Amino acid sequence: MADCELCGAARPTLCPVKVLDERVIVAYPKGTWRGINEECLNRCHEGNINRVPIKAKKCDLCGTTNVPLFLVTVQIPIFQEPYHRDSNKAICESCFEACEDTIKRQVAEKEESHHH
Ligand SMILES: [Zn+2]
Ligand SMILES: [Zn+2]
Repeated sequence: MADCELCGAARPTLCPVKVLDERVIVAYPKGTWRGINEECLNRCHEGNINRVPIKAKKCDLCGTTNVPLFLVTVQIPIFQEPYHRDSNKAICESCFEACEDTIKRQVAEKEESHHH
């Protein structure tokens, strides 16, 4: 099991998203991988479409500061009814693009498996 880096929910598998983390950009100029679950990936996709600006210091996925940030509402798991609560996350444009890349890759993989 692994924990989603946005909502913290544990899943057997996570969707890998390649983000540009400015704190480690020297070591990883091509980006580093973050694992988020499918729900959060979909939320990021919706956030990318809606583009609601949010005031925050840094992107919650890649940690980049001083860039325009947009609202993504994720559901944080809790141990009592209704077992989740909404939490506002701030995501930057480059992470949105990284999420779209991951979605495209998944669609391509699904199509690939149909041919076999
Ligand atoms: Zn999540
Ligand atoms: Zn980001």
